[in-house]
Amino acid sequence: MQKGKINVQTENIFPIIKKFLYSDHEIFLRELISNAVDATQKLRTLASKGEFKGELGDLRIEVKVDKDAKTITVSDKGIGMTAEEVDKYINQIAFSSAEEWISKYKNESEANPIIGHFGLGFYSSFMVASKVELHTKSYKKNSKGMQWSCVGTPEFTLNEKPKKARGTDVVLHIADDSTEFLEDHRILELLKKYAKFLPVEIIFGTDKETRKEKDEKGEEKDVTVEKPRVINNTRPAWTQKPSELTDDDYKKFYRELYPLTFEEPLFNIHLNVDYPFTLTGILYFPKVKQNFEVQRDKIQLYCNQVFVTDSVEGIVPDFLTLLHGVIDSPDIPLNVSRSFLQSDSNVKKISGHITKKVADKLEELFKNNREDFESKWDDIKIFIEYGMISDDKFRERAKKFCLLKNTEGKYFTFDEYGNHIKDRQTDKDKKIVHLYTSNQEEQHAFIEAAKGKGYDVLILDTPIDSHFVNMLETELENVSFTRVDAEVVDKLIKTEDALPSKLSDEQKEKLKPVIEKNLGNSNFQVSFENLSESEPPMVITQPEFMRRMKDMSALGGMSYMGNLPDSYMLVVNGNHKLVGNLLEEGDEDLRDRQIKQIIDLAMLAKNLLKGEKLTRFVQRSVELMG
Ligand code: ADP
Repeated sequence: MQKGKINVQTENIFPIIKKFLYSDHEIFLRELISNAVDATQKLRTLASKGEFKGELGDLRIEVKVDKDAKTITVSDKGIGMTAEEVDKYINQIAFSSAEEWISKYKNESEANPIIGHFGLGFYSSFMVASKVELHTKSYKKNSKGMQWSCVGTPEFTLNEKPKKARGTDVVLHIADDSTEFLEDHRILELLKKYAKFLPVEIIFGTDKETRKEKDEKGEEKDVTVEKPRVINNTRPAWTQKPSELTDDDYKKFYRELYPLTFEEPLFNIHLNVDYPFTLTGILYFPKVKQNFEVQRDKIQLYCNQVFVTDSVEGIVPDFLTLLHGVIDSPDIPLNVSRSFLQSDSNVKKISGHITKKVADKLEELFKNNREDFESKWDDIKIFIEYGMISDDKFRERAKKFCLLKNTEGKYFTFDEYGNHIKDRQTDKDKKIVHLYTSNQEEQHAFIEAAKGKGYDVLILDTPIDSHFVNMLETELENVSFTRVDAEVVDKLIKTEDALPSKLSDEQKEKLKPVIEKNLGNSNFQVSFENLSESEPPMVITQPEFMRRMKDMSALGGMSYMGNLPDSYMLVVNGNHKLVGNLLEEGDEDLRDRQIKQIIDLAMLAKNLLKGEKLTRFVQRSVELMG
């Protein structure tokens, strides 16, 4: 047997860093600034422990771009490094001081947490730089300035070079293929993206500020001054205690997150967990209304206030990706692939926890102020329905506060609604039939017919409602859902008692082909029903099952069903006087026109009469009146 040590060729490491370490070259800036923030936070921790007694002074981190010299410089006034530390942390790739630091300053680090982890961040500069210089001076007494330099080969130089201020300057000499990063606007964009909420002030460029000042004569004058531009808000709302924040603070922070969104959020959930993992954040319920085009990817993920990503798929449950806001957790492994992230057990726990918190908040709103909850319902309905369809745990919780709204604008819980309708709407199989409309305008005639019978009609008009009612039929006991136009009104709720038929079977046999002939090329199925005389002579219905399958497949998730055809029934009311009249011998041409007219009226009531058919109908109506 042979044992040995795998040999790493250091010559190969730079091409690997450059090509494979991160897919996004732009994150070099995030890494360098994170290091600068860490160095500053460490100094604050030492000062709070009394291990650093000097002046902290101005701790701002400065980013500078020099287009002529083709350099980007990141300067901090943090703890800096001694020659030994440079040798230990910089000259050894994948050697981070983070573990050591955290175990040594466990308790103190909470106030000033650090970001570093893997000891690779610094080397990401070689993705964009042909040469990197680091000029540093430790906070320790009698430290000397040290200059380290490397051109992207395993050789480096390290020598003394006087440095006045404590801290570190990292100078990147930008490579020819990365000159985009020498543009101010590009750097500003990156800072706004990654550094917007870092806990140490970052300055870049200047802002002009005009203010009024009195001159020697005491006259007011506009004076313009240039001030370093501060990029970040060091104390974003999610890092503060909920008790310290007002409603307005939350709204202000929402605008800070989404400067281009004008809608105000409905309400927010402040997340604050420290066991079994650390997670903070604020989630907002946005206003959406009917429109299902909710913008996803609006939740931003941070790690100790450093922006990581805004695609949180797999980290929060799918239905919650419709929410907006921020999640910050040092426990989410950041520099690894997405598939790893999704299978990570911490991430799974986080996801479950967020679901629970959201359910808690909704239940609290429902219990404490039902009226207010109802006023928000139309906006939040889509989240809750989607959540109930896609997440078992959420479904169990939401059964208590999920609401149904009827055409009168009243809201009910499932239990309340069952009690409200059970006397009139229980069918012969003991099922409580929930009638609903998906479009109050188009199904008006059917809604009126149902109401005329003393039935109640729900509004279920979002695209996911067909999935939603399907789910409810399996979840709720003895409940079925039927759209108002699925049947003629007498059959919407099936009872034992049927009306006698005025037509004999032979008469029906005789009439059927005549009606079919006049239906023309439409593929409606013709059937006879014994309805009351006051019901229309013909009604077009769309049987619930087929229609629901079609709606569901159209929304996706059932693509194997392909594009289903619409299936319509032309129900003939055999008890209507006009239908009886059609059997009389006489002018066949007139009879055919009457049948066409009755069919078109049924089409109209179902909002199906369009184009040429509508034109013909108008013409025929005028003729028949004459
Ligand atoms: P990480 O940040 O994950 O620890 P890096 O490769 O970015 O890994 O840095 C390695 C180490 O170098 C850090 O842990 C830190 O000790 C040191 N270091 C890097 N940048 C600075 C800086 N600006 N000031 C002080 N120390 C630094």
